[in-house]
Amino acid sequence: MKTYFLDLFRGAVSLLDGMLVTLLALFSPVVTEQYPRQAASLSPRFRGSLQLVQDDQGQLLCTACGACARTCPSKCLTVQGEKPTDGGRKMPTTFRYDISRCSFCGTCVMICPFSALSFTPVRTRVATSREDFLLELCPAAEKPSELRVRQTHHP
Ligand code: SF4
Ligand code: SF4
Repeated sequence: MKTYFLDLFRGAVSLLDGMLVTLLALFSPVVTEQYPRQAASLSPRFRGSLQLVQDDQGQLLCTACGACARTCPSKCLTVQGEKPTDGGRKMPTTFRYDISRCSFCGTCVMICPFSALSFTPVRTRVATSREDFLLELCPAAEKPSELRVRQTHHP
């Protein structure tokens, strides 16, 4: 009999304990986000996609040295470039990025001697074919395919 009432008491305490947690959560600040109806806030360091960095004059910092492509463990970068005839530095003519194979390890960004590559926070990337994930990052190059879009850039 004593055990019965002891169990009953423990059950009631456990129930109140659970209700207290619920009550505290009810009056705590909301931390969930109504994605996709509301844009989720991302860290500026979020690794969404790669981009080629430009200087203040809009010139690409990339010299098409190919170090990033050689280092990439997933072999998802293809870089080609040429020197302008006026003798300037080598510039990329194509910079293909197969994002479907990218593991977002960041090795390419870290290895670049010119800080010419960075991540951009693209939150959502949806497509219906594998080719749609083959991106051309060089503005001067012909696009292999336009990304069929449902992607969101954060400012
Ligand atoms: S992004 Fe950097 S490492 Fe890659 S080809 Fe351009 S300069 Fe070289
Ligand atoms: S983040 Fe990693 S896997 Fe993706 S392109 Fe760069 S080196 Fe390759």
